[in-house]
Amino acid sequence: MLALTVVGRSFRYATVKERRLRFSVSPDLAPAIQGRTIERVGRRAKYLLVELTGGQMLLVHLGMSGSLTHRGQGFAPGPFDPRHDHIEFALDDGSILVYNDPRRFGLIKVVPTADLDKISELKHLGPEPLGPEFTASYLWQATRGRTLPIKNLLMDQRIVAGVGNIYASEILFRALVRPARRSGKITRNEAGRIVTATRDILRQAIGSRGTTFRSYRDARGEPGKFARYLRVYDREGKPCPHCNTPIRSIPLGQRSTYYCPRCQK
Ligand SMILES: [Zn+2]
Repeated sequence: MLALTVVGRSFRYATVKERRLRFSVSPDLAPAIQGRTIERVGRRAKYLLVELTGGQMLLVHLGMSGSLTHRGQGFAPGPFDPRHDHIEFALDDGSILVYNDPRRFGLIKVVPTADLDKISELKHLGPEPLGPEFTASYLWQATRGRTLPIKNLLMDQRIVAGVGNIYASEILFRALVRPARRSGKITRNEAGRIVTATRDILRQAIGSRGTTFRSYRDARGEPGKFARYLRVYDREGKPCPHCNTPIRSIPLGQRSTYYCPRCQK
């Protein structure tokens, strides 16, 4: 993971080759990080939080297609596309951290760590799916009186942070719950299964460093290995791994959704 390879390294300088991301990259970015040491790398929803010395934080949103890749000694050259390497951060050990984003939908800026809670997108975020607050009773309470499909609720960042479309289908398959079920009809028992399945699927995804869908790459630039664990996602018409019934696909909230019509109730 990124954290293991860059924590303790310092920034020598940053080279911004393309400023025009979703929000223009500030000319202050390079001077703001220069000489600072990386203390911690965390994640909040779709943001990477790179905590620096001096109470500053490098905030990175990967957008639709972005990646942050550590390229050091022994880095295996992959299918990289230098045209879309927009920012290069040189580190004190001679390695580089590269922000690549073909669609330029991401965001990268330096903010005081103390101001993190003021960032509107982070202010209203629900609990982390792997954190202690995301429990069966929390999810069950959050579904009461809600009529939207459970999959849409699970992908609502205000309910739980960071469950993406692919994972939502996989989680509900593991939990044996149909994605289109009205959230308010979910039982306490089912809420518990969804919470457990969320933890299992996300841990597996982290362990295998993400999926290879779109141009997502993991922090080391290796294609993710999660794709091999997919049970229903992108498998329309193929047999369910449990019961052989053909997997179905429906749009929910304009996102492709996959489920087994027999296993999932
Ligand atoms: Zn099935």
